[in-house]
Amino acid sequence: MSNCIFCKIVAKQIPSSVVYEDEEFLAFKDIHPAAPVHFLIIPKQHVETLSDTAAEHVPVLGKMLALVPRLAQEQGCGLGKDAEGNVSGGYKTLINTGPDGGQEVYHLHIHVIGGPQPWRGQR
Ligand code: 5GP
Ligand code: ZN
Repeated sequence: MSNCIFCKIVAKQIPSSVVYEDEEFLAFKDIHPAAPVHFLIIPKQHVETLSDTAAEHVPVLGKMLALVPRLAQEQGCGLGKDAEGNVSGGYKTLINTGPDGGQEVYHLHIHVIGGPQPWRGQR
């Protein structure tokens, strides 16, 4: 998609702070972070919204979701235990879909938003 900003990021025509890349996916830091950790995971293939996915996309969706905990851990907001053994860390995982869902960029992406509270969180 020639006019898609995220396709341009995939093509490295627009710079981004890449946190992960493989043949199918790119993850990069959000330009307007809502929290200490805020990155986006996108398929390199252009899919406009979650509602444009079909059965053929199930493997892509599964792999994208499976990347979340791994990259969250690498980016410093993974789930862990504090000194007392209580659950600590964590993140929000968000897919905005369509105008009423607050989607601004029409190339499917998962937001991963985390880091020590407080942060404004919601997008
Ligand atoms: P949406 O509202 O579509 O779910 O989220 C789009 C996100 O993309 C926003 O959080 C916005 O800050 C981010 N974004 C928009 N343009 C760019 C860009 O050129 N580079 C990066 N790194 N993030 C962008
Ligand atoms: Zn695109």
